[in-house]
Amino acid sequence: MSRFKFVDIGINLTDPMFRGIYRGVQKHQDDLQDVIERAVQIGVKKFMITGGNLQDSKEALHLAQTNDMFFSTVGCHPTRCDEFEKNDPDLYLMELLNLTENNKGKVVAIGECGLDFDRLQFCPRDTQLKYFEKQFELAEQTKLPMFLHCRNSHAEFLDIMKRNRDRCVGGVVHSFDGTKEAAAALMDLDLYIGFNGCSLKTEANLEVLKSIPSEKLMIETDAPWCGVKSTHAGSKYVKTSFPTKKKWENGHCVKDRNEPCHIINFLLSFETNSLSRGAQTLLYPQCHPPCDSAHIQILEIMSAVREQDPLELANTLYNNTIKVFFPDM
Ligand SMILES: [Zn+2]
Repeated sequence: MSRFKFVDIGINLTDPMFRGIYRGVQKHQDDLQDVIERAVQIGVKKFMITGGNLQDSKEALHLAQTNDMFFSTVGCHPTRCDEFEKNDPDLYLMELLNLTENNKGKVVAIGECGLDFDRLQFCPRDTQLKYFEKQFELAEQTKLPMFLHCRNSHAEFLDIMKRNRDRCVGGVVHSFDGTKEAAAALMDLDLYIGFNGCSLKTEANLEVLKSIPSEKLMIETDAPWCGVKSTHAGSKYVKTSFPTKKKWENGHCVKDRNEPCHIINFLLSFETNSLSRGAQTLLYPQCHPPCDSAHIQILEIMSAVREQDPLELANTLYNNTIKVFFPDM
């Protein structure tokens, strides 16, 4: 088994893509179990399934109840905060609260919640501001940490965070793509910074990553989204890929569908094979012929950029995550 241990703090396992459904069309068979198996083989120990609104939080919890390694979050994403107003806002909040309170042990965070000014077309700014702040009631009542989202809204995010910091025990700002200064301001509030493929797109992103002490970092895939593409700055540090097909094939990853296994860099117990890009491919027994495209792993980029031993870094990230989201372990 893998030498590495991971918690994927942001994994959208309720996404239909993991059931083979893309834009409402069944493109291949449900391969969720294969996705999980690949992740477990590279060392993922826990999956924090993201809840994006009330219904999605219910589904995330429902899925979490099917596996001891699965956990979930409860909250409303900034782009979906108009749902508060389409319903009765207090009732909506109460339902989120009840869902959390009734499922302690499985629900490990409030979120995701925050601000996203890149996508105001889905929910206006004022609505986002109002209901981000409102969700601190959930954090306050449940004493759970927060799983936070901040896109192109740092000043407003920080303002709300500062005003309410005492109401929550802590948390992580996931999928971080802000500046060094923004990261420093969040760390001053004793928050953690989460990185995924979307956080490693540019050289500037990599510089930000270098500036953050490993004691304040977490790692995630945000799969099936936020995979690292070959055009991303971080991709040059990639050494490992998984058997991947453009069209789904049994035992393979699917091109353009990120998976939790991509959190890792390499696994010694599997036979490896050099690719033309200098990458290594994990060969699974069922994989014939091997890969035809390289997938990219987050830890590999992080450890290279930071010039840190990957195992040591993975252990620190794991311990950070346990401390915040699984304090009773
Ligand atoms: Zn997010």
